[in-house]
Amino acid sequence: MTTKRLPFTKEQLEAIIEQYPTPFHIYDERGIRANAKRLTQAFSWVPGFKEYFAVKATPNPYLLNILKEEGFGADCSSLPELLLAERVGIVGEDIMFTSNDTPAEEFRKAMELGAIINLDDISHIAYLEEHAGIPELICFRYNPGPLKQGNAIIGNPEEAKYGLTRKQLFEAYQIMKEKGVKRFGLHTMVASNELDPNYFVETARILFELVVEISKEVGIKFEFINIGGGIGIPYRPEQQPVNLETVSQGIKKAYEELIVANGLAPLRIVMENGRMITGPYGYLVAKVLHKKEIYKNYVGLDACMANLMRPGMYGAYHHITVVGKEDWPHDRIYDVTGSLCENNDKFAIDRNLPEINRNDIVIIHDTGAHGHAMGFNYNGKLRSAELLLKEDGTVQLIRRAETIDDLFATLDFSGIKAVVAK
Ligand SMILES: *Cc1c(COP(=O)(O)O)cnc(C)c1O
Repeated sequence: MTTKRLPFTKEQLEAIIEQYPTPFHIYDERGIRANAKRLTQAFSWVPGFKEYFAVKATPNPYLLNILKEEGFGADCSSLPELLLAERVGIVGEDIMFTSNDTPAEEFRKAMELGAIINLDDISHIAYLEEHAGIPELICFRYNPGPLKQGNAIIGNPEEAKYGLTRKQLFEAYQIMKEKGVKRFGLHTMVASNELDPNYFVETARILFELVVEISKEVGIKFEFINIGGGIGIPYRPEQQPVNLETVSQGIKKAYEELIVANGLAPLRIVMENGRMITGPYGYLVAKVLHKKEIYKNYVGLDACMANLMRPGMYGAYHHITVVGKEDWPHDRIYDVTGSLCENNDKFAIDRNLPEINRNDIVIIHDTGAHGHAMGFNYNGKLRSAELLLKEDGTVQLIRRAETIDDLFATLDFSGIKAVVAK
């Protein structure tokens, strides 16, 4: 039986739970920093390599600050994400604004911050000009359509709402050139949670080829390509992380063949990963409230799909550890559930686990990205706290748990006559 490592002991975790009641997400600072350094190191050959952390994955200022200290920028796609980056001191071209269906005020804020604007559509040129002006640096998002396969989470590029067609790209850069823009980038993002390193090499190669063609045809000079995010993580214990060296060396070869050989170097290469940066270093910690034996055996936690939507939403696998029972035989089969009145509120279905009892502490792994961030309030569920396990071993509350007052804050009871006890 395979296990996944934890950054704390059972005793340490019990002490944390005494102070911060379950459920909560806890992030491992040491793991995040070491991982950030690995990525930077793998691409150290790239002139001006930068990772713009996808804020949507884990929009917490403490985590953004850690990543800022590691030299990362922020990939934002909404006004609140821009404001969050600004509040952490990530501004100017350290922000990549990769949005779609974008409201005017978001373009205005991105321009005001001096962010790199990555346009999702050719029609956004006129919209941007009308509402915010034309920036000095512009990037477009490419949708390769039938030329590239997507994957389960992001779908087939031909069906995806994002980006410009190949034909539109040439036209878009031409328009921008005529408007006096002199600095250019090219972006694509066609996969999510992809574990095949060759996929990213192929993506970079497609962008390099386009840079060669567009440079020639339109007569512009590209400053960077952005190969997007989407590097996967080994959610299952038998999976391996993406070998970043393989990705880097594959991209280097393509860079030399296409960019250097065509006299287009230096060209910066940037990324906007979320999942692979923080995903493996977050843990949802919950307690067993109930055991239920009907046609199947159920274990009910004090966490639910509002704390982690991925299993319910895409049937995603998240590994589960029952704390202190790592070495017990995993000879029971349970559905591990939350309390939503929705039958897809299950963290695991037919999972082999050790015998579970009430009050056992259960850890759901790999919740450091697209975990807390995807939370919601359906069924009156409150979003949990977020904790940071710091490098010195202490624990800091980096987001308090929501309260019922938070939940009711947008409601108006003033016109309600019913007698309320209070
Ligand atoms: C979601 C997203 C990312 C990050 O994706 P990960 O799978 O977390 O790496 C990056 N760029 C864009 C445009 C996105 O929508």
